[in-house]
Parts: sequence; structure tokens; C-alpha cells
Amino acid sequence: MVQTISLLGSTGSIGRQTLDVCREQGIRVAALTARNSIDLLEQQAREFRPQLVAVNELEAALELAKRLAGLDVEIAYGLDGLRRAASLPESEAVVTAVVGTAALWPTMAAIEAGKRVAFANKETLVCAGELVMDAAKRYGAEIIPVDSEHSAIFQCLQGSRDRGEIKKLILTCSGGPFFGLSREEVGKKTKADALRHPNWAMGEKITIDCATLMNKGLEFIEAMRLFRVTPDQVSVVIHRQSIIHSMVEFRDGAVLAQMGTPDMRLPIRYALTYPDRGASQLPPLDLLSCPPLTFAPPDLEAFPCLRMAMDCARTGGSSCAVLNAANEEAVDLFCREEITLGQIPDLVARALDAVPCVSRPAMEEILDADRRARECVKEAVK
Ligand code: MG
Repeated sequence: MVQTISLLGSTGSIGRQTLDVCREQGIRVAALTARNSIDLLEQQAREFRPQLVAVNELEAALELAKRLAGLDVEIAYGLDGLRRAASLPESEAVVTAVVGTAALWPTMAAIEAGKRVAFANKETLVCAGELVMDAAKRYGAEIIPVDSEHSAIFQCLQGSRDRGEIKKLILTCSGGPFFGLSREEVGKKTKADALRHPNWAMGEKITIDCATLMNKGLEFIEAMRLFRVTPDQVSVVIHRQSIIHSMVEFRDGAVLAQMGTPDMRLPIRYALTYPDRGASQLPPLDLLSCPPLTFAPPDLEAFPCLRMAMDCARTGGSSCAVLNAANEEAVDLFCREEITLGQIPDLVARALDAVPCVSRPAMEEILDADRRARECVKEAVK
């Protein structure tokens, strides 16, 4: 179990739940970072007394410095601030709860400092997963997934030392709020409809991704990268109840599942207490009052985002970065109510057509593909 952490993205949904786990387990927080929620960040700094607090903009940093003048805390800002928080010598682990590709640089800084990375940002693994995992190996940094499905797989793999034993990783998917609808019906849904997720309370971007099933597509690629398996070794099954968080099928026919009440504090706690298990104060899963557990195949016609992600997983190279960046831009446009939900897959498809795929891309080529995909989406809606 770790004693001290840096928390990147402390005011979002995962960030706040990470602080719940820190209170519960008595874990010290040495650094907090947030994009711009100054009020909450101030409150968190007063409670956890970190030595470093970082925000995005200089202006916010100056305001925060004024408010926290009585505290012994250093205020930093920008990419440099994030990197310093990620590599702080006092922290044994870094929780990356920043949304989007923005987490890439601080994540690399944490890896280069040899930290345990509690990975709560899937975009980084999708766009640059091979480079991230290679760097983790090189610097001896432990990567522990916080995404509930990948945490489930990680837990099921404890005790299995040979990756050759894995036959298949089975990702479970709630199906989101539009399960059972046609592509046309899904395309007409509004932002308010999309934000109504049946089982999980999460941030805005990921909730929209859950409605289009792009989230499961990104998780498909994330699973390949984290566990170094081929796309043929990953499958998706719809499981509406979100009780089984994912499964591993082994070569001897055994299928292990990790189950629990859907609550992100479990995978967060596990990433921080691993290889031990910390005690939870939440009510345990009650099997007798649980609804029947059901399984169904995903509908790739109604949810083309999942199909495109599976295709990119097979194509590899820079295509995953294009998929991720185009989706981030399209979801942003949808959240500002400038496009319909149905336009998200259309814009992603357009970017995948327009930006040429580079095989075995270096970091610069990934960033270039990311930038071109974003430009392509912006250009298309002009
Ligand atoms: Mg997930």
C-alpha cells in the first residue's frame, strides 16, 4: 500500500472519489492539480495540506496563491506545474484523473520518475499506449489501471505469471442509456438524454462516450495495450447490471470474473493499496437482492463508434490516436450543442479517412495525427 500520492485532476469525479479513498485509508496527498475549479481546489488544499498545488492558467494560480496565503503550500501552473506534481519525490504513486490527451505529458513525467501510476485516463493509453507501456518497463514504473473493467482484469490476473495463459479478456459493457435502439434513434438523442447513465455516476465526457459506446471502444484498445494481447484476444459483452466488471478466460477453460457494486472507489482503492486490499466502509454486494445477470452481444450497427474502435485496434499505428482525438473534438462540439449525437461517429469516420495512418509512430507522429484529426473535425463543422 502507498502512503503518499500526487493527484492530477482532483476536482473531477475520479479525483473527488480518490480523496474519499485517501480519507478512508489515511493516505497523504502531497500534490493536487485541477484545471480551473478554484473553489473546490481551495477547499481540498485546506483539508489535505499538500505541499504543491497546480492549476492550468497563471491567473488562477495568482488567485489561489492569494486565497491560500496563510498555508505552507507552493502554487504552480501550466504544464510545468503538472509535471512537477507528477514527479514530486515525496509521492510514491500518481493518480492520473485528468480527462483527455492532456494527461500524456504528466503521465510520462510520472513514469520517468519511476512512480506507481494509478491510471484513470484511458485517452493516453489509446493514443500512445505502446510508448507509455515501453517507457514504464524502461523506468520500472508500475502501471495499475483504475478503469473498472481493466482493474477487474488486473485483479483476475493476480497469480497468473505467464501471459500465454490468457485466452481472452472479456470486457463487460452496460450498454449505456440507449441500449436496444437503432442507429437512427440513437442519433437523435439530446445531451440531457445522453447524460442519464443507468449505473455509473461519472464526468461529462465519459458519460457521452458511454452513450455512443465509444467508451467501450477506447477500453478495447486500452485493454490491448495494458495487458499486451492481440485484438482477437479482446471481446465485449453487454451486461446491463454492471455487477461483473470484466472477466478473463484462461487456456484451461477457467473464466474468472470480478464482481461488486458499481462504485469507482473500489478500483481506486485497489490501485493504491495493491498488492493488499484495504477495508471498505460501503455496503458489500448483496447477491440475493441482485437482479438476474444477463449477457448479450453488442450491436455494432447501432453503435458504429465501437466498431470503428475495434477496426482501429486491428489497424494499429496512429489510427487509434486519430480515433481518440476526433472523438474528443466531436464530443466537445456535442456538449456545446453544436452537433447532434449522430454526427459524432460521422465526424470520427471522416477524420479516419482524411488522416493517413503511420505504422509504429513516434511521439511526434502521434501528436501530429492528433492535431490533424482535431483540425479535420473542426473544418467539417464550419
Ligand atoms: Mg470503464
